[in-house]
Amino acid sequence: MKKVEHIGIAVSDFSAACDLYEKLLNTKVYKVEEVDSESVRTAFLQSGPNKIELLEATNADSPIARFIAKKGEGIHHIAFEVEDIKAEMSRLKQEGFILLNDEPKPGADNKLVCFVHPRSAGGVLVELCQEVGSH
Ligand code: ZN
Repeated sequence: MKKVEHIGIAVSDFSAACDLYEKLLNTKVYKVEEVDSESVRTAFLQSGPNKIELLEATNADSPIARFIAKKGEGIHHIAFEVEDIKAEMSRLKQEGFILLNDEPKPGADNKLVCFVHPRSAGGVLVELCQEVGSH
């Protein structure tokens, strides 16, 4: 894994959350993007070298809606950038981690992503991401 690529935060009120994090980090949201496959709307903020992703459910079946119903707003996942997502997925599978998807899928911000089940990762939802076109 190369580095923490971003931290994902589940929010229930998108525009209120954008305002809040813009104030907190003293920077503007630089990108808003919907990811249909995940039923989420995302906003990205950059703080120094670090990225924060805000996630709002776009329907009641969204994983974010289920997360907020269970746990409320807050940190949802940690995303690690990887060089070769397929290789990393098979390495983790061999190590006994439970992957939430068998194939990398398109995520926000021009990435291929795969999620690791928190049950197999110490209670933390882990996202692997690889920049599209980087490999
Ligand atoms: Zn993410």
